Amino acid sequence: MNTRKNWGKCPWVVDFHPERPGLPPVLDFAVIGGGFTGLAAATWLKKISPDRAVALFEADCCGAGSSGSTGGVALAESSVGDLPGLGDVLAGYQEILRELNVEADLVLPGAYELGRSGALPNTPIRWKDAGELAAVKEVPGGTINPGKTVSGLARAAERAGVLLFETTEVKETKCAEEIQLTTDAGFTRAKSACLRVSPSTRSTCRTCGEDCSAAL
Ligand SMILES: Cc1cc2nc3c(=O)[nH]c(=O)nc-3n(C[C@H](O)[C@H](O)[C@H](O)COP(=O)(O)OP(=O)(O)OC[C@H]3O[C@@H](n4cnc5c(N)ncnc54)[C@H](O)[C@@H]3O)c2cc1C
Repeated sequence: MNTRKNWGKCPWVVDFHPERPGLPPVLDFAVIGGGFTGLAAATWLKKISPDRAVALFEADCCGAGSSGSTGGVALAESSVGDLPGLGDVLAGYQEILRELNVEADLVLPGAYELGRSGALPNTPIRWKDAGELAAVKEVPGGTINPGKTVSGLARAAERAGVLLFETTEVKETKCAEEIQLTTDAGFTRAKSACLRVSPSTRSTCRTCGEDCSAAL
């Protein structure tokens, strides 16, 4: 399954690839997608419930989706601005990295927002395109190294005891009493499943026809 899009050549390196474990016939939690969210969710699940069987299935290799190809910009708000309950995103992010012992090269010197009106007097750029593009606002933020972040999260997941399956696409999820998963590594059942896949590659439940992520 090719999840790479037309994102150009990526400078980041994901240097961790787990040995493929055996697939248990029954899982407590199945997490689908080895990006930032899937890896972090699986690791937290295992930390919260060490006795539960948690497996993560990644169709390609960890970071093969957008997580391994991001621009590495870390900002305090979502792409649609602040949201209720979002809290202090950068502080929370730092806390997660510290708790999971992930070396992400996070630096937070602040960031500029760009715009075509209201340039800051000290804007470091004034680019001409359809107008003049300049820094218009200083906001909290900085950068990470996405390759190191994905590798660190995958290591954290393995350390925590998550069963990590790379090159293992979940081909079908079916909601029954338990969630039935047909994967490249075989068939298994899970009490809960968490789908963390890009919208373009989202796998849907053939029973309900939706992203039927069971509540975690
Ligand atoms: C070019 C680009 C630049 C970006 N730059 C930034 C940035 O600078 N700052 C920022 O905050 N955000 C940025 N983003 C957004 C950010 O990368 C995403 O929000 C984030 O990586 C999403 O992580 P994820 O784990 O949810 O998804 P993904 O990283 O996409 O992970 C989903 C994974 O699911 C796997 N998968 C899909 N289907 C299946 C299946 N059926 N079975 C098993 N596995 C499956 C895929 O292979 C993939 O690895 C950028 C995105 C892109 C595309």
